[in-house]
Amino acid sequence: MTEPRYTVRHYVSQDCDDAQLMMNLMVFGASHTKDGSDGLVKMRVLFAASEVAPLIKTGGLADVGAALPAALRAIGVDVRVLLPGYTVVMAQCQSYDVVTTFSTLVGFPPARLLSGKMANGVPLFVLDCPALYQRDGGPYQDAHGNDWPDNAKRFGLLSKVAALLGGRASPLAWHPNLVHCNDWQTGLTPAYLHFQQGAVPSIMTLHNLAFQGNFPAETVQTLGLPASSLNMEGLEFHGFMSFLKAGMFYADHITTVSPNYAKEIQQDELGFGMQGLLADRNHELTGILNGIDVDEWNAASDPYLVKHYNSNDLSGKATNKQAVQKRLGLNPDPDVPLLGVVSRFTHQKGLDLLLEIAPRLMDLPVQLAMLGSGDAAMQQAARDLSERYPGKIAVMIGFSEALSHQIEAGADMFIMPSRFEPCGLNQMYSQRYGTPPIVHATGGLSDSVVDCTPQTLVDGSASGFVFSGMTANNLSNTIQRAIRLYRERKDWQALCKNCMAKDFSWETSAKAYLDVYRKVLGR
Ligand code: ADP
Repeated sequence: MTEPRYTVRHYVSQDCDDAQLMMNLMVFGASHTKDGSDGLVKMRVLFAASEVAPLIKTGGLADVGAALPAALRAIGVDVRVLLPGYTVVMAQCQSYDVVTTFSTLVGFPPARLLSGKMANGVPLFVLDCPALYQRDGGPYQDAHGNDWPDNAKRFGLLSKVAALLGGRASPLAWHPNLVHCNDWQTGLTPAYLHFQQGAVPSIMTLHNLAFQGNFPAETVQTLGLPASSLNMEGLEFHGFMSFLKAGMFYADHITTVSPNYAKEIQQDELGFGMQGLLADRNHELTGILNGIDVDEWNAASDPYLVKHYNSNDLSGKATNKQAVQKRLGLNPDPDVPLLGVVSRFTHQKGLDLLLEIAPRLMDLPVQLAMLGSGDAAMQQAARDLSERYPGKIAVMIGFSEALSHQIEAGADMFIMPSRFEPCGLNQMYSQRYGTPPIVHATGGLSDSVVDCTPQTLVDGSASGFVFSGMTANNLSNTIQRAIRLYRERKDWQALCKNCMAKDFSWETSAKAYLDVYRKVLGR
């Protein structure tokens, strides 16, 4: 199949399909306020996402959804978050106001908009729609791993409400200057905004291009978008309607979560069919490396760790290693290097290669601790290995925030051989905890890990082990390279300290997002 090429055109506002509904909502005038503290014209941003930690998390998007708005608020941007009211989210909402109700949105069940505050102080809007979000299972799939059959409607509503709040007819007194959308679940927002009068600009952030939200073409009509949008110059993608394509096509600017991934997705290999559109929008595409929450991920104060430590004194790391070994039933040997994995078990993460070489690795003095879940065959293969090598390989299937912190701190090395990785957070957490990562040279892994060579060890930039060429042999050789250095205690200590000295705080990234907001708003 030949890849489609897309051209980007300038947009002309058209009437929204929901004009009738708009009339039913109260209209407030937009206003500009001055932020007296730093002289910035205060910017108001609605940050729409399908996951925000700690309320709901399946991956890195949730971490970003929590930390980036907080970091932006710290530099004077008035960011407020919009999140669906899944069962687990509603269970955590202790006090909130009902801001408005949506009872006549064409094609959608009734919903309420609640407002409250996250524990980190970020204002939060929760979209409460029991018919779509109140159910057991995950945010995207049921307990058996099947996509919810009404996902188009579920995230169509989220997208729609984000657009309403960014329009002239918003029922809120608070009017955003722009809407910041994240991944396919909010991909229709820029399309709704485009077909709505008096709407603000939007930004689309791609956290992973592999998840696109593609649905049968006829879904367009059920979501209240004009049939004309189902076009190559619109949200059509190989005969389907694509939430993500909609976001990328209609947003005023696209960002993604690392500079290297921004380049990679314009190429055939990692463009997932969207490379033509992304290459065409190259000048409106910015790669910004994610930060990490340096308060949550702090070895000197992490409540999940049995012993705290810092870059001046890493001795506490050994106690954490011992605790992980004990908790997971690994042999209590302090000198055997412990390899850690915390990951979704998927093809993307390249864990199949690790499982393939694991028997070979067992000839070495090495232990492996794996935490994660996902692909059933991969989970079973990992379990089989742990039964075959008791005391040397431990596998915990599931999601555990506590154990993820303990592995990051207690392991000697962290393995992340992703085939592609938009940004990746775990390699940054591991560096922060003085646990050098072993990573494939791709996406954000290349942007955040400096390969250890004699030169980089001397100049103090080395922070892990990077291999090119996604093969089992390359991974195996790189692990062995790391183990050799582990035996050189002085060099290893220097490497761990380099890791801990790196600055992955959100501040730099938040400033880069602010630059993008300014550019889009022409300020
Ligand atoms: P992705 O978003 O592709 O899954 P990232 O590295 O960007 O990968 O982010 C993964 C996030 O989810 C990290 O915060 C990681 O610690 C966490 N995580 C992944 N799997 C688990 C698990 N089984 N238990 C606890 N945390 C996990």
